[in-house]
Amino acid sequence: MWKRVRGRKFKATYGPSDPPAQPMPDASAPPLVLTLPDGALREVAPGTLPRDVVATIGERLLRAAVAVSIDGVVQDLVTPIRAGGAFRVLTERDPEALAVLRHSAAHALATAVRRLRPGAQIGFGPAISDGFYYDFGVGEPFTPDDLAEFEAEFRKVATEKLPFERREVSRDEAAEIFRDDPLKRERLADLPDGEVISVYRDGDFVDLCRGPHVPDTGWLKHVKLTHAAGAYWRGDARNQALQRIYGTGFFKKDALDAHLHRIEEAKRRDHRLLGKQLDLFQFFPVAPGAAFWTPRGTTLYNTLVDFVRERQARDFAEIKTPLLFTKRLWEQSGHWGKYRENMFLVLDNETGEHDVSLKPMNCPSHHLYFASTKHSYRELPLRYVTFDVLHRNELSGALSGLTRVRQFAQDDCHVYLREDQIVEEVRFLMNFVLGHYETFGLAASLKFATRPEQRIGSDEMWDRAEGALRGALEATGRPYELKPGDGAFYGPKIDFDVTDSIGRAWQLGTIQLDYAAPGADRFDLTYTGADNHPHRPVVIHRAVSGSFERFIAILIEHFAGAFPLWLAPEQVRVVPISPELSAYGQRVADALRAAGLRVGFDAASEEDYRVRIREAHALKVPYMAVLGRREAEAGTVTVRRRGQDNQQETMPLDAFVARCVEEARSRALPHDYVPNDVPEGALTDGTPAHGGVTNSAAPR
Ligand SMILES: [Zn+2]
Ligand SMILES: [Zn+2]
Repeated sequence: MWKRVRGRKFKATYGPSDPPAQPMPDASAPPLVLTLPDGALREVAPGTLPRDVVATIGERLLRAAVAVSIDGVVQDLVTPIRAGGAFRVLTERDPEALAVLRHSAAHALATAVRRLRPGAQIGFGPAISDGFYYDFGVGEPFTPDDLAEFEAEFRKVATEKLPFERREVSRDEAAEIFRDDPLKRERLADLPDGEVISVYRDGDFVDLCRGPHVPDTGWLKHVKLTHAAGAYWRGDARNQALQRIYGTGFFKKDALDAHLHRIEEAKRRDHRLLGKQLDLFQFFPVAPGAAFWTPRGTTLYNTLVDFVRERQARDFAEIKTPLLFTKRLWEQSGHWGKYRENMFLVLDNETGEHDVSLKPMNCPSHHLYFASTKHSYRELPLRYVTFDVLHRNELSGALSGLTRVRQFAQDDCHVYLREDQIVEEVRFLMNFVLGHYETFGLAASLKFATRPEQRIGSDEMWDRAEGALRGALEATGRPYELKPGDGAFYGPKIDFDVTDSIGRAWQLGTIQLDYAAPGADRFDLTYTGADNHPHRPVVIHRAVSGSFERFIAILIEHFAGAFPLWLAPEQVRVVPISPELSAYGQRVADALRAAGLRVGFDAASEEDYRVRIREAHALKVPYMAVLGRREAEAGTVTVRRRGQDNQQETMPLDAFVARCVEEARSRALPHDYVPNDVPEGALTDGTPAHGGVTNSAAPR
């Protein structure tokens, strides 16, 4: 009943046979100038449709066109051109086109849902970083069966190749179209006066939307609905409860398949599950957000810290600083005013006040230490590093495994240097950071973030800082992405994203220039120049792994728990196949241990050897040395590599020890490690679910 009435009314105002109600091109107005990528200029009347411009460039291009970009603003082919500028046709090869496809898929999803559930109210349907969602107001949560039904209908919608028709409407017309959709009317009421109100139609479904969309639903062949979840209108728990359906979509089938494979892999590799299976860490309700590391986990953790320590031994100075500081330090650093709710405050019995805090970051203590003595220009750059425990008061509801914790440690460094040293220093630090990721087979990409709107310091200071950082970045010859306005308020930065073995991007390291902390109103840092006068140093905040906790989570998922030999908590398991061989087992274990290897062997064990082997499998131990009578007599071991049970190899004990030592020393990637096997195109997305402890060295 509802649907029929609505449909009739809709037809009357906006039916399939109606001409598109868009303004006609205004030939009397001064023309707009479009600059094509080859530099050619096109003059068009305001109101011309991009479709018509693209058609004049070529019919083939029109068929391939997803949308256009005019001066960086993406709009679809049926939205009238209202401003001139750089004109680019977006095809499926352009990264911006993917969001257009996914948002269009949200419309098509609503189209399908409305066909099957005509009474479903509609909320928002945006593209998100790895797909899209649409929110519906329905009585009951959607079941997996519902989703399957919607997906089948979605396929029909895609097969029907329904064009996305755009129409500009008055506020009253829009209110009439959405009279049964209170959420859309609420949205409508938010639109400022004078804004063009547009609706889009595909088939029977009309949505209030600014666009852009793909030309028709035929583009939406490679779409998958992934799951449903509860949501609130506008994300506010005081508002109406909605049911959100998530999906993802791609231009090509292989990209979709790779993405779905990646989702499955991510589930299989979840560090929270593997952390249990590999016996690495636990969480107790009495210590939310603070990991309890088992002996194996502690070995892994310390091995990583030792690795960083070893790489920093020559050029960095490690210091340990207090965990608790009074508020005077935090007032000086600015944290007391701006960051206090993220800090754990501690009661000081003498003052009766909570005016002491656990440190959330190392920077202020490093500045304090630098300021405590006189420095000559010849000592710079000075690099302080600290692996101390840090605490941040994350909301308990936001805590998740090792990726969002309250207690963690960073490989955090602060460099104090002269301005003329920035280029050389950034080059040095970049090599350091990139070398770290390389060791783990993590591919890094760089982002250069420049001055934000809200900032301190003069434009001249920013020009210098950005120039220096950019110069250092370009000197490396590596490509980078420019992020205008994304810098810290105290200086520009280089961020490092890494891509793991299943194609997920994680933000990890950072190199940030800081002109604020040394200032007179903060830590008043100085060094004595060649002219014998005091000068202000610049500070660089540098993080490589971010927090060790989060980095371990990434490594667990990246390697699916099958660590390289040098990192594996247990490197070799020695398994005699009968109790009488335990003396030989001891000899093998001793030889391996004497070479510095971590060995699992228990001479007193009465367990069947098959149990020991199964356990080593579950723990993903890289090597097993299986010992029988023949091995004991010949002084050999039969070696099983992780994941290659049917390819045993018998070799002299010495040769096996030498092989393990060399593999650990060279920090070789695991033999069963598969570097990124996900095709291009599926690699562009991050994983918002894993947004972790912030890596930025400091808010100030
Ligand atoms: Zn839309
Ligand atoms: Zn810092």
